[in-house]
Amino acid sequence: MPVYNDEGIVLRTYSLGEADRIITILTREHGKIRAVAKGVRREKSRFGARLEPFMRDQLQLYQGRSDLQIVSQAVCVGPYSHSIMTDFPSYEAATLMAEVADDLIGDDQGPSGSQYILFVGAISALSRRLHAPWQIAQSYMLRSLSQAGWRPQLNSCVTCGITDSQSPLLYFSVADGGVQCEKHHKPDAVPITEADRALLSALLAGDWDHCSDKPSMTVEHVVEMWARYYLDRPLHSASLIDSNYGF
Ligand SMILES: [Zn+2]
Repeated sequence: MPVYNDEGIVLRTYSLGEADRIITILTREHGKIRAVAKGVRREKSRFGARLEPFMRDQLQLYQGRSDLQIVSQAVCVGPYSHSIMTDFPSYEAATLMAEVADDLIGDDQGPSGSQYILFVGAISALSRRLHAPWQIAQSYMLRSLSQAGWRPQLNSCVTCGITDSQSPLLYFSVADGGVQCEKHHKPDAVPITEADRALLSALLAGDWDHCSDKPSMTVEHVVEMWARYYLDRPLHSASLIDSNYGF
């Protein structure tokens, strides 16, 4: 069986039998894969904690007899897991990002390139507490969906094209793809403030210097609706977070 090497980051794990786990891994060269790590739940596993969620590893793999790959070696190159798993807001943010990455990136689809770099960058930033967990998660969601082709338009009305210097743009329509002016906003558009629009722009650009430290419930709601709409499914992790805010 041909053995191959790739770098990957663990998105999630499921128990299999008494001692094994099935691990969903976002890889640099092979897209998203599902692999079995044998004996990983034994106390003296040769993998140690290297295949826990959010660990980044250099992996050696081979194709098993089923659809699943088998992990034969894992060398940690990014030990992000511990600091994320021991801080609940970071854990919630990472779980939500993993759910979005899992949805966005198909199985065995070939190199995941910029999506891989974006996810690893966000998880690494989260593990080092570079920014607030909510900022990292919302920025990641906007940027990963943009890379997939769903970039919200924030500087001009999606209906008439009028710019923010000509008219206030204080509505956001998820279905129409971005902000709308007073004249064209649809009934289902969410009213937003100038501060919300500035925060959305900063999060989308990853412009941390202009990212407000204050979370906005409206922005959180808009980002979550954006992801739900374009991924075409509910986000379970987001519902968990929303329940804290009473949405
Ligand atoms: Zn308009």
